[in-house]
This record gives sequence, C-alpha cells and structure tokens, in this order.
Amino acid sequence: MKKPTRIVHSGRGGKYAPGMINVPVYHASTIVFPTVAELRQAVARRNEQVLYYGRRGTPTQWALADAMTELEGGAGCVLYGSGLAAIAAAILAFVKTGDHLLMTDSVYEPARLFCDSVLKELGVETTYYDPLIGGEIAGLMRPNTTVVFTESPGSLTFEIQDIPAIAAAAHAGGAVVLNDNTCASPLNLRVLDLGADVAIHSLTKYVVGHSDAMLGAAVANQASLARLRRSGYLYGHAASPDDCYLALRGLRTLAPRMKQYGETALRLATWLKGRPEVDRVLHPALPDCPGHDIWRRDFTGASSIFSITLKQGSDAAVSAMLDGYEHFGIGFSYGGFESLVLPSSPSGARTATTWAGPLIRFHAGLEDADDLIADLEAGLERFNAVL
Ligand SMILES: *Cc1c(COP(=O)(O)O)cnc(C)c1O
Repeated sequence: MKKPTRIVHSGRGGKYAPGMINVPVYHASTIVFPTVAELRQAVARRNEQVLYYGRRGTPTQWALADAMTELEGGAGCVLYGSGLAAIAAAILAFVKTGDHLLMTDSVYEPARLFCDSVLKELGVETTYYDPLIGGEIAGLMRPNTTVVFTESPGSLTFEIQDIPAIAAAAHAGGAVVLNDNTCASPLNLRVLDLGADVAIHSLTKYVVGHSDAMLGAAVANQASLARLRRSGYLYGHAASPDDCYLALRGLRTLAPRMKQYGETALRLATWLKGRPEVDRVLHPALPDCPGHDIWRRDFTGASSIFSITLKQGSDAAVSAMLDGYEHFGIGFSYGGFESLVLPSSPSGARTATTWAGPLIRFHAGLEDADDLIADLEAGLERFNAVL
C-alpha cells in the first residue's frame, strides 16, 4: 500500500467501530467490570489495548495510536497532550542523572529550554551540535551519551540532517536516536527506516491540520517501546478523546493537503527568490538550502514552511509588510488550512553554530497561490515604502 492509501485505512477497518467509517469519541475515566475476575484480567493485560482505566486509553486514542504506528512503521505509539510534552517525555524515557545528550543546534526552541533547565537540574548534560555534522557526530559521543536528538528540517532555519549517518554513530556508541519529525509530517520522511529509534510529532501541526487542537505522539521501534511506554505511563500522560478524534479527522486528508502545501510553498519560495529585497530563501526543496542533497535522497515530498531573510530593512518596515497581509495570519504554528507568517530571530537560540539576523517564516495554506503571491507583492510594496 502506498502512503496515501495507508493514511485512509490506518486505525480503521472496523477494529474499533464495526460498520462505521470513523471511530466514535469515547469519554471515559472509570471502566466498570462485571466481576472481580474480569477486573483482574484487565489488570494483567493493561499494557495491551484493553479497557482498564481512562488514562490507558479507549478505542478513540487507540485508533490514532495505531494509525501513527503504521504510518511511521514503528512497534507502538504513545500519545501526549502536546508536541512539547511528547519531546520531554521521550527524552526523559532514556536519560538518568549523569547521562549526556547530544542535541541539534537547530532544535525547536522550547525543547532547547527543556534541556537547559529541567535536564540540567536533573544532572543530565546537553551538548549542542551543528545540524549538518553528519557522521562526524561520532567525535562528540561520550561513554555516557544515551540520547542523540535530531530534527530535520529545523523548523525555522531548515537544515536537513544526515539521519542515517548520525544514527549509525549514535548506535555504535550505545545511544538511542530521537527525531522530531513534525516538520516532515508522517508522510514525507520514514525516519525509523533511516535509523531513528523514536519518531516524535506535534500532531498539532500537519496531522490535526485545522488549527483547532493540540496533541503529541511518539512512535518507537520494538527495542525502545517499553521505555517510552513506561515514561508516558508514569508521568501520567493522557490525550483528550475529542482532540484524538480531530487528529484522526485531519489525518485522513493529510496526503492531498501536504501535496498542495508543498506545491504552493515552492511557488511562493521561488517567487520570493526572484525579488531584489530578498537575500536568502530557505526551503529544503531549493538547492540553496543546507542539506538539499540529503533532502532529495531521504524525503518523498516538500512541506508547507520556509523562511526568507531580507537584504536590508528596519523592523518597522517588516512590521508594515506583515501587518497588512490579507491572507497570512501573524502567529505561531503551521500545518493548518490557512497561511501564516512569523517573524523570528533564531540567533539567540544558537550555541554550536551561528545564525545572523532576523528571518521571516511562511506557512503556505490552501488558498490559491496567485492570491498569496499578490499578497506577498503588496507586502513588499509596504516594506519598500517604509524601509
Ligand atoms: C510546534 C512544534 C513542536 C511543539 O508542539 P506543540 O504541539 O505546540 O507542543 C515541537 N517541534 C516542532 C518541530 C514544532 O514545530
């Protein structure tokens, strides 16, 4: 089965909702058992998909977990209330006091703050590395390195990482590889096949796809699943059934949305590249993007987001450009049906590499690309008028 077909079928097939296309939303905390013997049976099988207690999930959560497991080609999935919760819980599953973690310098900033505060206080040391390091990461491995964390592309600066080379070095040193696969979506990068042990997603973005729910997921291979499950359980993570339903609903249209997002993003990126005000356009599908060759080797499609830097211009000029957009909402996140724009300055969140100056990140939504380009063009006129 090709991925778009899998996306339609995964987590369905009447397993949880005979005859129905979609699994119902089950609201449950207590599950009551007809007899003590049946309660004890459920206790014995509580790590399986058995109704036991609401926090362990109901068919609504299981259907989403099954779908994510199948799409990532893993052994099992743990769901969380947000993408950041998934990152934190996945890291905490594999570190203890005295351990060392290697973290890509391009990582999503709150994950970096987690390492610099919570992990530090727990006595876990973090070393940031150049996202383009590839196999040379072997030189940063220590005897106590238990986790190598990757994110490809970086969600602001879009470096593509050589996951197979990094995973080989990490595994040679006895570490697990956790990858934040949010930017690629479960469609465009089979990161477990490339050697990662756990694929993490902010489902909030592409899977939910309609900017109306927050959820996270981590899909592990067989060797890492028990530890991931243990941390999810003992930290008390649970995902809302309503939000899981929204994620399943969004998931079904992921393939055509990603196709359109990618196509529109590339048109906007290419148009902006031709503008004299624009210095760099960072989209993994364009040759200027660091790691573009690896993107061509490993990815099966382009995502919706890309960044630009400008040759010059004041903060006021950038604000005039963004404030007046008709179609690009100013805000965080991406992956919904509507276009977004975000001004950002990643330089303060770098220690292993440098990043100079501000950038502007765009998310291409499902609007017509010509309308979006007209909006960008009018924005550059406002920018030039203030400069
Ligand atoms: C948004 C995002 C997260 C955090 O997800 P939330 O659901 O907002 O907590 C983590 N990683 C990446 C790459 C993201 O884009």
